[in-house]
Amino acid sequence: MTASNSLDSVFTAKAARVLSATRRHVDLLSDVGETLRGRLGSQVQQVVVGDNVRYVCEDSQVTVCEVVQRKNCFSRSTGHKRKELAANLDILFVVSAVSPPFNRIFVDRVLTIASVEKIKSILLVNKEDLGLKEVENAIGLYRSLGFAVIPMSALSGEAPDSLKDMLRDSNVINVAFCGISGVGKSTISNLFFPNKKITTGELSRKTGQGKQTTSQAQGYPIKELDCSLKILIDLPGVQSIGVGHLSPLEVAQSFPELTAAQGACQYRDCSHRSEPGCEVKEMVAQGIIASSRYDSYLQMLDEIERARPY
Ligand code: GDP
Ligand code: ZN
Repeated sequence: MTASNSLDSVFTAKAARVLSATRRHVDLLSDVGETLRGRLGSQVQQVVVGDNVRYVCEDSQVTVCEVVQRKNCFSRSTGHKRKELAANLDILFVVSAVSPPFNRIFVDRVLTIASVEKIKSILLVNKEDLGLKEVENAIGLYRSLGFAVIPMSALSGEAPDSLKDMLRDSNVINVAFCGISGVGKSTISNLFFPNKKITTGELSRKTGQGKQTTSQAQGYPIKELDCSLKILIDLPGVQSIGVGHLSPLEVAQSFPELTAAQGACQYRDCSHRSEPGCEVKEMVAQGIIASSRYDSYLQMLDEIERARPY
């Protein structure tokens, strides 16, 4: 490519959003709502779903030439290796259900990662038609901590109005769903695709061995809400979600009940583990801070220590 050619492509580059990315290709949603398949230009290292990019089209070949700076990125880690999953999220729905049982460890980890990245998170508790008795305590706990919790039943065939209203908000562009397998993510997502059903399990991308989760996140344009430029992102439904890329302080600050108690601990930098005069431990002992949340916190700190590369 000559210098003037290269300059031309910069001027003719168009905007798009990444719907999915593999080593071989990227799928894009252009700013006029068309889907395109292309590849990364040599100057672009990596993209994830939700990335805003600029691309050029030469001889029918779409090439991503620039990635716009992200406002956030949802990542998880295996050991100390961080894997970026989705960028520029406006809302992250943490999906849980009455059955399989409410997984507090998973939910706390996702809420922590979202909080560190300043991503607004909402808890969806699906399958309320099975009765909310089993999850009443969990719903009460998370509401008392200031999290928005929406019980729903995807089988009712309609999303609750509060959920629809959030998606209609013109400031909400990239919406992600995260949850362990079986909570009903595919069924919930289908509520937004009445004309093009995503078959149950497709969101977790079936392989020859049946329903398997992959580590790739996938974006789907939501057209039915009259907003073809919004995308719904399915995050891989892994059972355990590593937080080894976070710092102990980031984790502590993501727990509102710990930050509220911190000032009363004897040590200002108390990690609430074995320090004397720890208000948090006292409040856990008195049942004021939920022991499930404190356990989640301790587990995350342990994992971060184990993940240190020395
Ligand atoms: P995913 O693995 O999270 O994508 O979950 P699926 O959407 O595949 O749903 C798992 C199972 O739960 C399926 O058999 C669904 O029919 C069922 N399911 C989904 N939503 C509901 C619901 O609101 N109520 C009940 N009772 N079952 C549901
Ligand atoms: Zn303390």
